[in-house]
Amino acid sequence: MKKISVIGAGTMGNGIAHVCAQSGYEVNLIDLSEEALNKALATIGKNMDRMIAKEKITEADKEASLNRLHTFTEVKAGVSEADLVIEAATENREVKAKLFRELDAASPKNCILASNTSSISITEIAAHTARPDKVIGMHFMNPVPVMKLVEVIRGYATSDEVTGTIMELSKKLGKIPTEVNDFPGFVANRILMPMINEAIICLQEGVAGVEEIDTVMKLGMAHPMGPLQLADFIGLDVCLSILRVMHDGFGQPKYAPSALLVNMVRAGKLGVKSGEGFYTYTPGSKDLQVSDKFLK
Ligand code: NAD
Repeated sequence: MKKISVIGAGTMGNGIAHVCAQSGYEVNLIDLSEEALNKALATIGKNMDRMIAKEKITEADKEASLNRLHTFTEVKAGVSEADLVIEAATENREVKAKLFRELDAASPKNCILASNTSSISITEIAAHTARPDKVIGMHFMNPVPVMKLVEVIRGYATSDEVTGTIMELSKKLGKIPTEVNDFPGFVANRILMPMINEAIICLQEGVAGVEEIDTVMKLGMAHPMGPLQLADFIGLDVCLSILRVMHDGFGQPKYAPSALLVNMVRAGKLGVKSGEGFYTYTPGSKDLQVSDKFLK
């Protein structure tokens, strides 16, 4: 495997392109938006500078990595010679369905098609291609250059050979891959999202305040971040959409998103990305302030 194409240059795509280029692969980073591509290149440069400052890589490593990174605004041109495509485009069923039909037509027949989806079924995505044995989930964690886990998700038809190749590749990217099967939420979000949802229900019922709930989980369970702060970091819209996939997929009330989460998303309070969720965020400031809405 030499050439990797990454689709989507947002939060996850830039991190995936970064680790692939730094690990010696030729990388085509593809996004419909030129602006997203430029922003991604700037972010990758900045993140590599941080690694140079920590003496994890050298200036020469950075230059060589950036030379292996090429940008495209057209999927077809960017995947025509790929050995592997890692799709990290917007989390939307229709977007992924259309993309995988396009990827199946435009990439070489032996190319493996991976998706970084947080919740959409790999089996469903694979059904849009004529190569379901070569479709697999590669669920990286945010921020990609820092987080070690790759949840490798086998769709119903994913072959042993393709799974083995992706497990090996993930190790070459400096990650620790863990194999799981294709059920709603996979493992990471199936366990994480009910915890976040329960924390929001505790807040909704007045069991405790924002800081108190996060403090209990940080100090009591040694979590580096409380569940409400983590929800803000992930994005409340993303949390809601994953809970809905699990609620639809299993049909069990335990996955029903809390009314407060639904309301906050309706009100545009999405967490860090919108400037307010359970906490408020001021650009350039590291201070964490509970949102006025939840102050006693
Ligand atoms: P994002 O919104 O930051 O970026 C998505 C990018 O995809 C955008 O730049 C958009 O222009 C581009 N895009 C959309 N349609 C496209 C197309 N047809 N062709 C090319 N580019 C296209 O999203 P993100 O947070 O990086 O998430 C990407 C994927 O990773 C989603 O499936 C998400 O569920 C998953 N994921 C996200 C996180 C997270 O913490 N953000 C963690 C794990 C997995």
